[in-house]
Amino acid sequence: MLKKVLIANRGEIALRILRACKEMGIKTVAVHSTADRELMHVRLSDESVCIGPPSSTDSYLNIPALISAMELTNADAVHPGYGFLSENAEFAEQVEQCGFVFIGPTAETIRLMGDKVSAIDVMVKAGVPTVPGSGGPLGDDEKNNLALAEKIGFPLMIKAAAGGGGRGMRVVEKAEDLINSIQVTRTEAKSYFGSDVVYLEKFLSNPRHVEIQVIGDGRGNAICLGDRDCSMQRRHQKVVEEAPAPGIAPEAREAIYKSCINACQEMKYRGAGTLEFLYEDGEFFFIEMNTRLQVEHPVTERITGIDIVREQLRIAAGEELSVKQEDIVLEGHAIECRINAEHPETFMPSPGKVNLFHSPGGNGIRVDSHIYSGYTVPPHYDSLIAKLITYGPSRDVAIGRMQNALEEMLVDGIVTNIPLQSRIMRDEGFKKGGANIHYLEKMLGL
Ligand code: ADP
Repeated sequence: MLKKVLIANRGEIALRILRACKEMGIKTVAVHSTADRELMHVRLSDESVCIGPPSSTDSYLNIPALISAMELTNADAVHPGYGFLSENAEFAEQVEQCGFVFIGPTAETIRLMGDKVSAIDVMVKAGVPTVPGSGGPLGDDEKNNLALAEKIGFPLMIKAAAGGGGRGMRVVEKAEDLINSIQVTRTEAKSYFGSDVVYLEKFLSNPRHVEIQVIGDGRGNAICLGDRDCSMQRRHQKVVEEAPAPGIAPEAREAIYKSCINACQEMKYRGAGTLEFLYEDGEFFFIEMNTRLQVEHPVTERITGIDIVREQLRIAAGEELSVKQEDIVLEGHAIECRINAEHPETFMPSPGKVNLFHSPGGNGIRVDSHIYSGYTVPPHYDSLIAKLITYGPSRDVAIGRMQNALEEMLVDGIVTNIPLQSRIMRDEGFKKGGANIHYLEKMLGL
């Protein structure tokens, strides 16, 4: 087993990883910027190292500082969490070259899946259904591109191969706009991601976002922990997630699980990962794979009883998966509301001092949060301050518990999106289940 893990992240996920390490008797090293000295996991870790000033570029994204911290503390592995360096192949490579364990896939897999064009290629070969599209990067021949587009049909999407975070994609309604839009997307992609490779994909008008959780042992064995529905989004950012996705036919579910497992086995995938799909009219269409732990992993943990971070740590230590596919049973329903320090209507960030924090409790409630009374939310990072997860034997019970838990939760001193989450949990369209990716923005009149 691993002896000492350095947690290259902050906030709730750093605390989540610390808890798993403690349970398993693994020592922890917290790293933090100068703005994050007061973080809960820094207080609870065995050792801590300050890795730089508040700006993420100089701290949480500072590879030399992180590797020095590993050397200094004699850590044997690093957990990157989500965001920051979690999908950075360069970081994974340098960590391993320096003789440490990267808790995640190999640099090669991260690179392969980080390029959406090569990821789609791998999935097609493994029999995973993908969105109809150009089947590769676009060249410079305008006539060719137009012909490709006509074949796919309008509306379509131009997407950057290196895109992420909802950036680097553009919808094109008609043929006249194609060439110009390709140019604009290329320029944007070059400046955001350093690559101007783009491809075409059919634009699905009213899909849901359904994703599949997988874990591989790096030796060709992989398991699937079911699906999640993350359709409640604003600006392509997830707001509410749930497992399982409501109203999906058992046969469609079984087929997609099978093909995801197959893809992971063929890649000899190592660690936890998520295959993201658009789901429309009973069909799944792969869009991308995230080669890391997801924010919304607790809903899957709740309905499977499997601790995903624990599995990540086991696999990184070269151990086998603790469960077999046939032992995985999906039971009940879990929902996660992301609690953000932001205005519930304008979405303006609201950093500052939390005078009082009261966490909800009771049967079927889980709260993953790093905040406490007296903690100051710094302005430098993302606004997630807590994840509220509720569980019930049915979706209705989970929603009811979420309504109560949101009422119980008290965050005094800063503005949060709790009122928005309460509104969603009482919304008839949400309660019905199966709303599509545009639903929340429509509900908000955006
Ligand atoms: P990113 O890597 O930036 O998150 P994704 O490829 O995962 O990009 O897409 C993000 C979101 O954009 C999806 O959840 C969905 O809402 C929308 N989207 C992506 N591709 C399509 C498509 N072909 N048709 C319709 N919507 C899409």
